[in-house]
Amino acid sequence: MNSSAETLATRSAISEDMEPAKRTCAEIVLHMAGVRVTRQRVALANLLFERHRHITAEELYAEATTAGADISLATVYNTLRHFRDAGLVRELALEGTKTYFDTNTSLHHHFYIEDERRLIDVPEGDVALHRIPDAPDGMSITSVEVIVRVRSRPALPADER
Ligand SMILES: [Zn+2]
Repeated sequence: MNSSAETLATRSAISEDMEPAKRTCAEIVLHMAGVRVTRQRVALANLLFERHRHITAEELYAEATTAGADISLATVYNTLRHFRDAGLVRELALEGTKTYFDTNTSLHHHFYIEDERRLIDVPEGDVALHRIPDAPDGMSITSVEVIVRVRSRPALPADER
């Protein structure tokens, strides 16, 4: 099946089991990714995918409760893991236990601004790797992601500029 035929088949599958006019964009995205659609998942998807972002489960939980959602941090974690497994977000582990979820799922690199605990995308073409190690025996490399750690420069006194 070519890709346009697949798209048509997917569209008709959606319209068969639910009226398209009553589905939000987030519901359609979850459905197409094979994620079971629940009210809480739709609420989180609406917050998560409103723009490109790098967000922790704690930050998304804070946004959801501020927006009035009745949801636990554990549910937010589980939902983000479901979204990750479905390929809707990428998981980035930094600073030990700190895990960010990235709504840009293409291969790319990052600046990590240490004093703001914030990530910025670096396009894949902006990093050139000249030497990487062979994978350990019996293993193969699945991806190489670079995190460039940066910090704001202290402002210089006027006479040193
Ligand atoms: Zn990113």
